[in-house]
Parts: sequence; C-alpha cells; structure tokens
Amino acid sequence: MAGKALLFVAPSDKTDPWREACAEKLPDHDFRIWSADPAKDGTGDAADVHYALVWKPPVGVLAGLPNLKAIFSLGAGVDHLNTDTALPKNVPVVRLVDRCLTQGMSEYVLYWVIHYHRKMGVYRKFHEAGTWKQMRQADAEARRVGILGLGELGGDAAGKLAMMHYQVAGWSRREKNIPGIECFHGPDQLVPFLNRTEILICLLPLTDGTRGILNAAAFGAMPKGSFLINCARGGHLVDADLLAALDSGQIEGATLDVFHTEPLPEAHPFWTHPKINITPHAASLTVASSSLDWISMNVRNLEAGRPLQGIVDPATGY
Ligand code: NAP
Repeated sequence: MAGKALLFVAPSDKTDPWREACAEKLPDHDFRIWSADPAKDGTGDAADVHYALVWKPPVGVLAGLPNLKAIFSLGAGVDHLNTDTALPKNVPVVRLVDRCLTQGMSEYVLYWVIHYHRKMGVYRKFHEAGTWKQMRQADAEARRVGILGLGELGGDAAGKLAMMHYQVAGWSRREKNIPGIECFHGPDQLVPFLNRTEILICLLPLTDGTRGILNAAAFGAMPKGSFLINCARGGHLVDADLLAALDSGQIEGATLDVFHTEPLPEAHPFWTHPKINITPHAASLTVASSSLDWISMNVRNLEAGRPLQGIVDPATGY
C-alpha cells in the first residue's frame, strides 16, 4: 500500500501488540517496522511514511523520512528522544496520554503511599522476626503527601489521594487552582512545598529545569523521617544525596522505579540498601491497544485539518 504509512521505530519493544492495535484502529494505514538490520528493515519507500511511533529512535532514522507529519512518543515522557541529535526540527512530537498509563501510575502511587503511611515495611520486618506487635494507626487526614508535577499523571494521582482524605499538595511550573489540592508553583514555592511534604512523589518530566531536583537540598527541606517515591526518571535523582539522606535518617524510606542507567547495574548500592524498594521501570507500562486510541485520534485530527493534541513544546521540553 503506498502512502500514509506508520513506521514503528522502537528497537527494544515487541512489535506484535502494536501491529495488531494499528490494524484495528488505523486499518487504512500501512504499519511498517524499522530495523537496523537491512535484511529485516520494513521501512520500504521512506516517502510513504507520514507518522512515526517511537521509543528511543536511533540517531538519524527519523531525519530520513521526507514526508513525516508527526512523531508519536510511545511513552508519556519524551526525554528518550534527546539522544537523536538529528531529530527533524519541523515535525511535531506528540507525547502519549493514555487512560491505562494514567490508571497504572495512580495505582503505583497509591500503593506506595499506603505502604509508607500504614508502615507495611515495618510490619513485614515484624513478620520476618516472628514478632506479633501492633503500632499506632496513622490518620490519612493528618498525612501530608506532595506530588512534584500536576500533569496527566500527577494530577490524577493527586485527585485519587485527596479522595482518600490525605492532605495533598502539588507543585507545577504554572500556577494552578485544583479543588482539594494545595497548589504550589515555580522555583520560589518549591521549598514551602517540600517543608510540608512527608511523602514526596516525583512525576515531573525530565528537562533542564527538573534534572537533579531530588537532591540534598530538597531532602533537607522535608521533615525528618520523610519518604520518597520516584516514578518519573532516574535523572531527577542525585543518587549519592539519597544514600546520605537515608543513612542520616532524614529520609526514612524510598521507592525507586527509574534509574540513571537501566537496568540498574548489579553493583549499584541501591540494590542492597535496606531502606530502598526497587521496581524495574514498571510503575506504569505503555499498553498498545489503549494507546492507539490516542494516536489514531490524533492521526484522524491531522488528516481532517484539526490540531494535534499533546504536542511537546520545544521551549519547555515536555
Ligand atoms: P505532563 O502531563 O506533561 O505533566 C508534567 C507536569 O510537570 C506538569 O504539571 C508541569 O507543570 C510540571 N513541570 C514541568 N516542568 C516543571 C518545572 N520546571 N517546574 C515545576 N513543574 C514542572 O506529564 P505526565 O504525563 O504527567 O508525565 C510525567 C512524567 O512521568 C513523564 O515525563 C515521565 O518521565 C514519567 N513517567 C514514568 C513512567 C514510569 O513507568 N516510571 C510512566 C509514564 C511516565 P505545568 O502543569 O505547569 O505545565
């Protein structure tokens, strides 16, 4: 089929779920799979490719598509595109907004907030020691949870935590007014936000403005004995600062889903630290079938002359 092809450029991802989802949701578009191996590469005539579905595209692949109309990220974050130094500048990048991704992230956040709030890690240690001991039950209405990032994911998690009666605050770049959430914004309000936050969740995009934000100064601004849940990107965290804060008791426990290097290297001290819980970048995984609702809606928008939704602003990087 000539014209209006979608090219899948995600060398580390399984292709079958995407092929099936595209066949169902965009049956009038040809689904092609890029490969670094010329014998397996299914790009065909590059001029046919109007859309690229990408995760960590190798340098220059997208630049070789002369009729590209939109680049669809297969994740909510778009920092994975930064390594493509030849990314075409005039083609819009569309981030992923997907109900399954949002639901999965809120489940992850709620699970770990409840884990720390209800001291489940301590009960696990009692169990392992054969100890029968009850601790005072904490009150959600007295627990101050704070979310860095009040976008698609942070906003949903904040709303669900507020429904469970936690005291929820959020921090964003622009000013917000969300009923039931104490809203902070901008660099000047970061410290006041941290001062009141006992369980901190990071759901920021990784940009020049947010890299290394989870550092010694941030941990020091939080009440002693606080908790950290980082489910955004490894680049938000200064690893050595977290280890020091855990060892001093400033931070009592941390759950980390994302790391500077993934998979997390075998020798990394996080693996064996007694106050750290690790998940393998699995806080919320992209689901092809539901993601195609968003991608196909945008393809239809573009082809009908309507604006794309979820375009990344090159000035802010998200
Ligand atoms: P989003 O809708 O773009 O929301 C980003 C939020 O961060 C917005 O509230 C934004 O503020 C705020 N923000 C950005 N830069 C800021 C700055 N310099 N200072 C203060 N606030 C800033 O993104 P999303 O869909 O919620 O996704 C967030 C991130 O989650 C992704 O970028 C990705 O890294 C991560 N993620 C991780 C997983 C996983 O499995 N671990 C899965 C999916 C996503 P404004 O509202 O003012 O714009």
